[in-house]
Amino acid sequence: MQSEHIQVAARVRPPLQKGKRCVTADTGTGRVIVTSTDDKNSFFEFTAVFDENTSQELVYTETAKHVVDGFVTGINGTVFAYGQTGSGKTYTMIGPEMDKPSRGVVPRAIKAVFNHLDDQLSRLGEKFDYITRVSFLELYNERLYDLLMNGESIDYREMENRQVDVQDSEQCLQVISKGWSGRKTAPTAMNIESSRSHAIITLFLRTQLEEDGVVQQRESRLHLVDLAGSERQSETQATGDRLREACNINKSLSTLCQVIRSLSATHKPSYINFRDSLLTRMLKDALGGNSRTSVIVNLHSMAAYYNDSMSTLRFAQNVR
Ligand code: ADP
Ligand code: MG
Repeated sequence: MQSEHIQVAARVRPPLQKGKRCVTADTGTGRVIVTSTDDKNSFFEFTAVFDENTSQELVYTETAKHVVDGFVTGINGTVFAYGQTGSGKTYTMIGPEMDKPSRGVVPRAIKAVFNHLDDQLSRLGEKFDYITRVSFLELYNERLYDLLMNGESIDYREMENRQVDVQDSEQCLQVISKGWSGRKTAPTAMNIESSRSHAIITLFLRTQLEEDGVVQQRESRLHLVDLAGSERQSETQATGDRLREACNINKSLSTLCQVIRSLSATHKPSYINFRDSLLTRMLKDALGGNSRTSVIVNLHSMAAYYNDSMSTLRFAQNVR
């Protein structure tokens, strides 16, 4: 049984080349099957399982929609894409293009949010009002960079001030696209490889409804997160900056795992270590409590990635 607040789905991407495979998405049973070199099968259960033919639309409706539906009614939420580099995290979250049928979770979520707000406006007229803002931050080596401000390095406490007002879905997508393309060229100290940083898009919504002279306000946040590659960051040969970077990636992903795990446990521990990494600190209000979390675990099917796939699936098993 999974908590209704936390859902974990798995998506197996199409193979990059011909060759032996070891990961199968069994969409019928909702299980991922991994076959070892000596032909032993391991099974991993998920809320939903997607094979290589699954459409972007279905992935959205089965994973993020529930979180987005909550967000527009005042419930905080987070959608994560987890997986090794090349497994399809960015494809799942953004997609190859923002305006094509192959668009990913982010453009679909934004469209859904503004459609909902438009509906409310036409239904309630003057009585209803809202503010929508977006921020796009990159988290690398326990430091935050604002992708909407040329990758400028910012302090954690400034996070809230980094939101940009957006009026409609087109504008919102434009702002994000611009930040996204700047991601590769941002003059942040070093050229951050996207596989080593977390990309965090946050929508902020404040709605106001006036009924019989009573004004009701609601605020919520929706984080859409393309995590750093989960492949084992080699610490053995790394020194200096590389070592620190490897440790920070491992640390933020393992802290995330622990936090989600604590939150989904039937008997919640009295202390949850949000403060152990900047990632969990940032997302604190949108993890656990009155919020919805959806994790989309991305996998290669190729036997060549057996070890990384197993470690990805163990992460998934642990967060449930
Ligand atoms: P990641 O972000 O995890 O490093 P990407 O999303 O960039 O991986 O995927 C690597 C490549 O594979 C990209 O060219 C992407 O378009 C393609 N790809 C990933 N998943 C799929 C999929 N389900 N269908 C088609 N192409 C995919
Ligand atoms: Mg990527």
